[in-house]
Amino acid sequence: MIFADIIIDISVKNLDRPFQYIVPPEIEEDIQIGSLVKIPFGMGNRIMKGYVIGLSGEAVFDISRMKSIIEVEKQGVIAESHLLSLAYWIKENYGSTMNDAIKAVMPVKREIKEQVKRTIYPSVSRKMLQEIRNEFDRKHNAARVRLFDALLIDDNFDDGIDYSYATKNLKVAVSVINGLKDKGLITVDSVKQYRNPVNELSARDERHVLNQGQKHVVDAIMKDYVSGIRKTYLIHGVTGSGKTEVYMNIIEKVLVLKKQTIMLIPEIALTYQTVNRFYKRFGRRVSVMHSRLSAGEKYDQFERAKNGDIDVMIGPRSALFAPFPNLGLIVIDEEHETSYQSEMPPKYHAREVAIHRAEMTGASVILGSATPSVESYYHASNGDYELFTLDERAGAAKLPEVQIVDLREELAEHNYSIFSRSLASLMEDRLKKREQIILFINRRGYAGFVSCRQCGEVIGCPHCSVSLKPHSINGRVRELKCHYCGYSQPMPIECPKCHSKYIGTFGLGTQQVEDMVRKKFPGAGVIRMDADTTAGKDGHESILKKFEKGEADILIGTQMIVKGHDFPNVTLVGILAADLSLNVGDYRAAERTYQLVSQAAGRAGRADKPGVVVMQTYQPEHYSIIAAARQDYAIFYEKEILARQMLQYPPISNILGVLVLSVNEASADNLAKVLSDRMRLYEDVNVLGPTEAAISKAKDIYRRVVYGKCTDYNILCSIKDQFEEFMKDNDRYKDCRLIFEFN
Ligand code: ADP
Ligand code: ZN
Ligand code: ZN
Repeated sequence: MIFADIIIDISVKNLDRPFQYIVPPEIEEDIQIGSLVKIPFGMGNRIMKGYVIGLSGEAVFDISRMKSIIEVEKQGVIAESHLLSLAYWIKENYGSTMNDAIKAVMPVKREIKEQVKRTIYPSVSRKMLQEIRNEFDRKHNAARVRLFDALLIDDNFDDGIDYSYATKNLKVAVSVINGLKDKGLITVDSVKQYRNPVNELSARDERHVLNQGQKHVVDAIMKDYVSGIRKTYLIHGVTGSGKTEVYMNIIEKVLVLKKQTIMLIPEIALTYQTVNRFYKRFGRRVSVMHSRLSAGEKYDQFERAKNGDIDVMIGPRSALFAPFPNLGLIVIDEEHETSYQSEMPPKYHAREVAIHRAEMTGASVILGSATPSVESYYHASNGDYELFTLDERAGAAKLPEVQIVDLREELAEHNYSIFSRSLASLMEDRLKKREQIILFINRRGYAGFVSCRQCGEVIGCPHCSVSLKPHSINGRVRELKCHYCGYSQPMPIECPKCHSKYIGTFGLGTQQVEDMVRKKFPGAGVIRMDADTTAGKDGHESILKKFEKGEADILIGTQMIVKGHDFPNVTLVGILAADLSLNVGDYRAAERTYQLVSQAAGRAGRADKPGVVVMQTYQPEHYSIIAAARQDYAIFYEKEILARQMLQYPPISNILGVLVLSVNEASADNLAKVLSDRMRLYEDVNVLGPTEAAISKAKDIYRRVVYGKCTDYNILCSIKDQFEEFMKDNDRYKDCRLIFEFN
C-alpha cells in the first residue's frame, strides 16, 4: 500500500506538519510528488485541495483511522506542482531533506498586508459633475467642492485621482467619500500593488548593431528555437565580447514568442549594472529577486512572475525558481562562478538545476563565460552542449597588455613593499593622468593572521579551528574577528601563550592594502569594496556608483570587484598576489586561479584607452597564471583536463563528500570510520578518508570527512541513500548529523 504526505497549503510554516493519506490503488499510477489532490479534511470531512510532498510505503499511524485521497486533479501542471517536483529532484540528487528542498524553491508565504492603490473616478458626465459641484458650492460644502474641482481637471477626469491624495492633501474625510460613492457620483477602484524592487533607473537604451560573431550566435540559437529544438548552449566569450548584448537580443525574440526568461547572475554585487541595462531595454517587464529583498518583496516577485506580470527575472541563484507559467529560456551569466553552488543544504548547483528545469518545461539554457568552468567546457567538447566562441571585444576596446612580475625577484632587489616597482610607477602615472586604478587582492580584512614571532602561537577562534583575522580602525589593528562564526576580541598586546610582545600580523588583506596605498599615495582618493564595506541593502551599489562617477581614483577589493563591472576610465589593474587562490587544497584551485586572474585582467581598458595589467606572483611559471596572462583558455583547459584525468576528479569522475558533524568529537570519529568502511564495500568506489575536514571544528562542532570517487554518479547517490537509512535506524549516532556534497 502507498501513502502520501500532503500539505493543504504550500507555505513554509506548514511543511513540518503534512497529513498522511492512503493512495487508493486506482490512482497510484497518476500520483507523483507535486500532484494536486482532493482530500477529505478535518472532522466534517470537508473536501479540500492539497499537494503531495512525499510518498512512502510506511504508515505513520493506524491505517484503520487513515483517510483516502479522493482524486488527482488533472488540470495541467500548475506552478506549485512544478516547483514541488523540482524540489523532489533536488532532494534526490543532492541529498537534502524534502523540507529544505521546498524551502529553497519557494519563498516564505506571509500574511502580509497587501499594498493597495485606490483611485477615485467620477461616475457621471462632466457636465453633471460641474452642476453638482456648483450645487455643493452654494451649500458651502467646501470639502466636496475641493474633491470635485480636482476631478474636473482634464487629466483627472479620465485617470482619476489618488485616494490618499484626496484624503491627505485635499483633506476630504473618508465618510464624505463614502457618501458620494453611495450616491453613485464617484467610484473607488482598488488595484493590488506589488512592491517593485526595481526603481529609479535611468531609461536610455544603447542598442548596438550586432557584429558578425554576435549575429552568428543569435541566429544559430534562434534557428534551433523556432524549430522547436531545446538544448544547452555555452558561449565562451572574452570579457567585453558582447555576451550580454547577445543574451538581450535572444531574450527579446523569446519574449515575442510569449515566453519568459530567467537571467541568472552570480551575485548581488552585479545586480545593479545588469538590472539597469535590462531595464533600459525591457522596462517594467523586468524584475529582480535576491536575498537582500524583504520577505514581502520576495513573495511579491514570486506572485508577479506567477501571474505573468513580468517576463524577465534577474537575480542570483534563487531567481532560478521564479514560477513563470511559460518559461522559455534560462540564461546563466558567468556560469563558472562558485556562487551558483549553494552552500546550505540542499547543496544544489544552479547550472544543473537550471538544465533539469529547462527539460521539464521545454526551455533552452544559455551558459556564458569568459572563463568557462572545466566541467561545462568538457560537456561542450563532448557535444552535450553546443559551443560558441566570441574571441574579440565588441566595442573599440582592445585586450589589455599583461605584465607578470616575479615577487621573488622584487625581494632579491630589496623591495619589501606590496607594490612591485613596475606597479608603483604605473600607479603614479595613472594618478597623474587622472585615470582610474583597480587593485585586486583576494582576501578581505587586514591580513592573514596574527601570530607570535617568539613562540609561533597563532591566535585562533575558541569555537572554530581557524585563525582570527585582524581588522583595523584608522590604520591600526584593534580587533580580531572569526570569519566563520563572527566571534571577535580586541587585538592582544602580548602573546597569550608566552607573553612576549612580539606579536604581529602576517599576510595581506584588503584593509592592509588600503592603509599602504594611503601612505604611499596620500593625494589619491581610495575606496575599498569587500564583505566588510558592503553590508546593508545598497552597499555594493553605492560603492560602485561612487567609483563609476570618478569620486575615487583607486578601487581596492576582493573578488567581488573583478566580476563583470564596466568602468571605462580604468586603465590599470594590479593583481597583488595572483597565487593566493592556488594553494587552497581543492581540486578546483588552478581553475579558480585562472578565472580570478583573467577576470581581474579583463577589467582594464574597457573603452578607448588601452589598459595594462600587472600581475604579481610567486609562481610565474604555473600554467594557470601563464594562460590567464595570455587570456588563453585553450592552453589552460588542455593542461587542466589532463590533471583531472590523472587524479580521477570531476568532470571525468564524480566525488561524494560526506561531512560528519557532531558536538562530540569521539562520535564524529567513530561514525566517520564506520561510514568509510561501508563505502569500501563498493568495488567501483575509490574511498579517501576518514580525515578531519579542512576546518576541523566550527562553531564548537567537530567535522570529519569521507570521500568516495566513482565514475557512476548513481552509485554515489545510492550510497547517500544507504547512509541516510543507516542514520535513521541507528540510535547510537543520535548526536551526529551528515551533510552530503556531490562534486
Ligand atoms: P560581455 O557581457 O561579454 O562582457 P557586453 O555585452 O557587456 O560584453 O559588451 C561589452 C561592451 O561592448 C559594452 O559596453 C557594450 O555596450 C558594447 N557592445 C556590445 N556589443 C556591441 C556591438 N555589437 N557594437 C558595439 N559595441 C558593443
Ligand atoms: Zn569562530
Ligand atoms: Zn608567544
